[in-house]
Amino acid sequence: MLNEKMVGLGTARSVIRELFEYGNQRAAVVGRENVFDFSLGNPSVPAPASVNETIVDLVQTSDPVLLHGYTSAPGAQDVRDAIAASINRRQGTSFSGKNLYMTCGAAASLTCSLNGLCLPGDEVIVIAPYFPEYQVFIEHTGAKMVLVPADTEAFQIDFAALEERITDKTKCLIVNSPNNPCGVVYSEETIQTLAQLLRTKEQAYGHPIYLISDEPYREIVFDGAFVPYLTKYYDDTLVCYSYSKSLSLPGERIGYVLVPDECADAELVFAAVAGAGRALGYVCAPSLLQRVAARCCEDTSDLSVYAENRRLLLDGFREMGIDCVTPGGTFYAFPKTLEPDDVAFAEKAKSLDLLVVPGSGFGCPGFVRVAYCVPTEQIRRSLPVFRKLADLYRK
Ligand code: PLP
Repeated sequence: MLNEKMVGLGTARSVIRELFEYGNQRAAVVGRENVFDFSLGNPSVPAPASVNETIVDLVQTSDPVLLHGYTSAPGAQDVRDAIAASINRRQGTSFSGKNLYMTCGAAASLTCSLNGLCLPGDEVIVIAPYFPEYQVFIEHTGAKMVLVPADTEAFQIDFAALEERITDKTKCLIVNSPNNPCGVVYSEETIQTLAQLLRTKEQAYGHPIYLISDEPYREIVFDGAFVPYLTKYYDDTLVCYSYSKSLSLPGERIGYVLVPDECADAELVFAAVAGAGRALGYVCAPSLLQRVAARCCEDTSDLSVYAENRRLLLDGFREMGIDCVTPGGTFYAFPKTLEPDDVAFAEKAKSLDLLVVPGSGFGCPGFVRVAYCVPTEQIRRSLPVFRKLADLYRK
């Protein structure tokens, strides 16, 4: 007898993957250039030159046994120290390497944090629109996901709805800003209000409520958008970071969990994160990539491509009368659908070989996600197709 739940997870493809596979099939029939695939959040710009240069340098100058060998379970000490120093330089914080647990991208950062914190019966609050894998990660711990509906006007936080959902069972809350799928960056005011609410609830219930900041898109922001660093607003914060998006390295699986000293039961929380890493088999994140992260953590891939794609797409949507909140960051746009049923809208788009993901899967019906991490030329050529789609609703 196998674990049926795991068989189910391993068999069912996500809506996003389903669309991506469909796009590949259609490309074989009508030609790649005639399929406008906006399904997947795979960075379209290469890693910065510094990444490849660092890899070459490391391979040519390091002791190969050390370079490719196991590091300490939480990561090499010099790597953790270098990354902590870089965060301190940029954020004005005072972390040390011992606050960092190196992991395999944001997914592992989240599963280590959630498994370290949660017991069966706990509740984990998630704010719509949200990254769909959160549900898989949360339920695997035996905890229950509690969803706060989206503030569909500005995509900040509906605090009345959030407050109603915080209970004695709330163990933690996940926030993701800049946000996948809507691209919005939470304002400083939103973060201050959130921190105050959580402090009040911690006092009322007499136990910590941890805030997990899932922030793989922190560096991908436009027009100088300010992304508050959450540990500075709320002590009981764990930061889950990944180099997948900022350095265009999603296949290399590298990131970290940061547990600040100020966090309630910080040493125990760090031990629990490390214990979860051990139980899940994530100890010793990829050694070569740890060293690349340490050297390249202040670089990013060329974000001007995403900025240009965003401009073209938003200008196009505006002209076509498609409502879309201006994304402050990421490489996603989240326009309102031209009919209430976002799945039907996405199907209509699909009939034109325009692949966009229904918002329902992100807990936010009435919208679709457009992942604009594609060549700019694809954006230009897709605009007449978006217009054709809009026209179908005008006739
Ligand atoms: N969190 C969010 C919001 C994401 O969008 C993603 C990936 O798209 C992840 C986590 C997982 O990132 P990683 O590839 O670093 O595991």
